[in-house]
Amino acid sequence: MRLRTVFLLKYAFTHDCSKHTYFMSTTIDLHCHSTISDGLYSPEQLVAYAHQQGIKVLALTDHDDMGGLHVARAAAEQRGMQFINGVEISVTWKKRTIHIVGLKVDPEYAPLKSALAEVREGRLARAKLIAEGLEAVGLEGCFEGAQAIADSSILTRSHFARYLVEAGYVKDVKTVFKKYMTKGKPGFVEHEWMPLAQAVGLIKDSGGTAVIAHPGRYDLGRTNMHLLMHEFRKHGGEAIEVVTGSHTPPQYQQFAVMAHKFSLKASLGSDFHGPGMSYIEMGRIADLPRNCVPVWQDWAEAAYLQEKQAN
Ligand code: AMP
Ligand code: MN
Ligand code: MN
Ligand code: MN
Repeated sequence: MRLRTVFLLKYAFTHDCSKHTYFMSTTIDLHCHSTISDGLYSPEQLVAYAHQQGIKVLALTDHDDMGGLHVARAAAEQRGMQFINGVEISVTWKKRTIHIVGLKVDPEYAPLKSALAEVREGRLARAKLIAEGLEAVGLEGCFEGAQAIADSSILTRSHFARYLVEAGYVKDVKTVFKKYMTKGKPGFVEHEWMPLAQAVGLIKDSGGTAVIAHPGRYDLGRTNMHLLMHEFRKHGGEAIEVVTGSHTPPQYQQFAVMAHKFSLKASLGSDFHGPGMSYIEMGRIADLPRNCVPVWQDWAEAAYLQEKQAN
């Protein structure tokens, strides 16, 4: 019998597959963005929206910036919601960009703050090169345009994409990424982000939990995916996103199995950026498959979810 068949049979006997339903939405969301990075809502608006969507435990995870956490926490507490300090760090691993979410990080932890400030400086230099690439193919005013949309926040590819749509150059954001902002296209710039070990180390040292964001989105192949999981765990990483707006339902199960295989916990988040800017709306995301250990297992903030599970 082939190895894969043996594994599948073993899996079928050790897990109750009938319990894997994905249509039930949940009240926890551990991944979303505000105007501090490339989201459309301010931290306060985002919390108000999450509340309206029925979210009870919320983590704000802006790209490379913890600047929205204090305001978001105050807004969440005012509404009786549980708030989790978060961040999504851009990382380079084997020449690829990987995102590492930090949950329960300390926004005042100086080494993490200064390392993120360095990443943001790198973003500014990268943005100038992106603008040059776009201008070389006749798209004008890109740097100033993207900066006007970003206001005082970091510059991301999303801001360039929004500028190109608003300026009438391209019909929608999705098309901008396809035509201009992905590998090999005029607005794509190879960039060196934070090393994996540093990102995981800083998250942990600040008291937080490191999570691999949307693993299904990286074009890694089986060997490299396993190597990533292994290295991440060796550095002290604790969880991977299993249910995310970036995964398909078959990927929920695929990464639930992967989490189990590498003794990693499972996280869940919409990756919401704003209405119409996300694959999924907040509060409409599926629950974790039952065979996962939730990353919030020991969190006081999510105690009510444990009670729900026990019932
Ligand atoms: P950056 O960190 O500057 O490379 O920007 C990455 C951000 O661009 C991601 O966090 C997404 O919000 C957005 N993004 C990436 N790929 C796409 C895509 N194909 N369509 C729409 N937005 C995308
Ligand atoms: Mn983003
Ligand atoms: Mn991401
Ligand atoms: Mn994200």
